[in-house]
Amino acid sequence: MRALATVLAWCLALAAAPAMAAEPVPTPFVAEVLWAPNPAFGSDGRRHLVYELRIANTTGSGLELKKVEILDEPSGKVLLSLDRDDLGERFAIGGRRGAEATELGVGQFGVLFLHVALDPANDLPRAIAHRISLRLVQPGIDFSATVARTPVVDRPLVVLGPPLIGAGYIAGDGCCDSIRHVRALLALNGHFTLAQRFAIDWEQADSENRLVKGDTKTLSNYTIYGRDVLAVADGTVVSSRNDLPEQVPGALPQGITIDQVDGNFVVLDIGGGSYVLYAHMQPGSVTVKAGAKVKRGDVLGKVGNTGNTQAPHLHLHVMDGPSPLLSNGIPYVFESLKLTAIDKAGTADFDKAEATGSPLTLTPVSPPQVLSRVLPLDLSVVEFSR
Ligand SMILES: [Zn+2]
Repeated sequence: MRALATVLAWCLALAAAPAMAAEPVPTPFVAEVLWAPNPAFGSDGRRHLVYELRIANTTGSGLELKKVEILDEPSGKVLLSLDRDDLGERFAIGGRRGAEATELGVGQFGVLFLHVALDPANDLPRAIAHRISLRLVQPGIDFSATVARTPVVDRPLVVLGPPLIGAGYIAGDGCCDSIRHVRALLALNGHFTLAQRFAIDWEQADSENRLVKGDTKTLSNYTIYGRDVLAVADGTVVSSRNDLPEQVPGALPQGITIDQVDGNFVVLDIGGGSYVLYAHMQPGSVTVKAGAKVKRGDVLGKVGNTGNTQAPHLHLHVMDGPSPLLSNGIPYVFESLKLTAIDKAGTADFDKAEATGSPLTLTPVSPPQVLSRVLPLDLSVVEFSR
């Protein structure tokens, strides 16, 4: 059904576009959107398109990317323009993190990790396209073409209850410009997957804004350690694990296999084609097994430090299939939360607080904002209540 729906969405988008591709025009590259963008409703009141564009060099010359513009279709209005400097931070050769560049050698491809924050006053685009401007190094000519048209996904919001209860929870590596989850593009089973696109690593600040107090090797010194992890919706447990030992915090463990990366975990089928992953829970705390029916608010386990993790946290994401790695990551919102602060000092500040016990550099939201049906953006500090 999903494949059919996708085909229909494409046909509708193509029908809406004015006489596209009527004439064949040679291009020195091919470009395609890996997954049609699915808007996220952020805690900043804006809608965010977070998606990936693959561009491959089909010529015998090097290509230098100069500009990529994201256009509303069919109006052609520019929603975002990325210059060479922007592209140098977002275009990854082979899709590999750390391999960012603006030049594509002969036979190379790259993946452009895109984030378009939309003005709340405007309607959501029904489709978008990409005007790619580049230079062929040999013979030294500039080229521009509008390609890679895609519909914007119009899918019902995935609305979640609280995964944790209490104050000071901080959304680590969240949407939309942090890179550890958003760019976790993996080559698995012969194709790309990106299940963690909208994942959050939840940690918790204490009354002194510390994620950990005292010895950073002691699990119980972390504010979030041992908190109850709750079912965010009624659902059915698809799979779970409960037997992996705690890791020593402070560094990622060595020799973790792919079946151990999530540590002790639960995958919950919450209906509508949406699945929730909870990862890294305490050994012995995961009380639900495959087939179990759970109600929103039921305790599924306790926050721990199992699997591929360097500090106690709850990794949570929503995806369109039951496999934590092979699915596509989709956005979600929490029915209600109170936004109390934001760490505007960024991921480096968060990492330092986690590694050393220094207080987070938080900017309070004053007065706190009670928000409904939003995705907390990167490094938001929130309070969840029942
Ligand atoms: Zn994570």
